[in-house]
Amino acid sequence: MRPRAPMPPIVVRFRRFTSLNTRIRLREGQITVSLSDLLEGAPESVIRAIAHILLAKLYKKPIDAGHNLRYKRFSSSAAVTRQTELIRGARGSKRFFGPEGRFYHLEEVFDTLNARFFGGMLGRPELTWSEGMAKRALGHYDAAHNTIVVSRVFDRPSSPRYAIEYLLYHEMLHLKHPVKMRGVRRCVHSREFKAEERLFPQLKEAQAFIKRL
Ligand SMILES: [Zn+2]
Repeated sequence: MRPRAPMPPIVVRFRRFTSLNTRIRLREGQITVSLSDLLEGAPESVIRAIAHILLAKLYKKPIDAGHNLRYKRFSSSAAVTRQTELIRGARGSKRFFGPEGRFYHLEEVFDTLNARFFGGMLGRPELTWSEGMAKRALGHYDAAHNTIVVSRVFDRPSSPRYAIEYLLYHEMLHLKHPVKMRGVRRCVHSREFKAEERLFPQLKEAQAFIKRL
């Protein structure tokens, strides 16, 4: 990348990040690299790919497609994804606001849906309302913390019951259908997922309500 420049001293540290973080910086002639300790046991070819990507970023050079693909394949592999989630679960702390809202109780809605659509077979994860009135992230299932978070915009009288039921039903389908890998892509809403989602009776009304939000 810089064939005529002298090689600066390089310090590499593995740190206890909660994800596959990598950082590089050049300060006072020294390059400092911080890598997640999840990468400590990575294959040599992956470490090389990371080195290339970080140096290319630092020196604003194009990133080699082969290296990029190698790193993406590694970081999205099932084993690494699972390990990252376990570590996030153990290390990350998360604010928790609880399932009891002013109008709806998430556990009650969950139990109703569980009996109606899943034969009561889904284990109940942590359920919590979001901190604020999030309109971009209406709901999500966080596998690392086994928690479903629902936006508080659904906890008011103008929000029909079928809307929160649909939202929770969607997140419950994520519990039932874990993310699949298709090559380097994460397939979140598989064909089976979508087919099952269509079983929700007020699907159209609920989606229209969410669109209006
Ligand atoms: Zn989804």
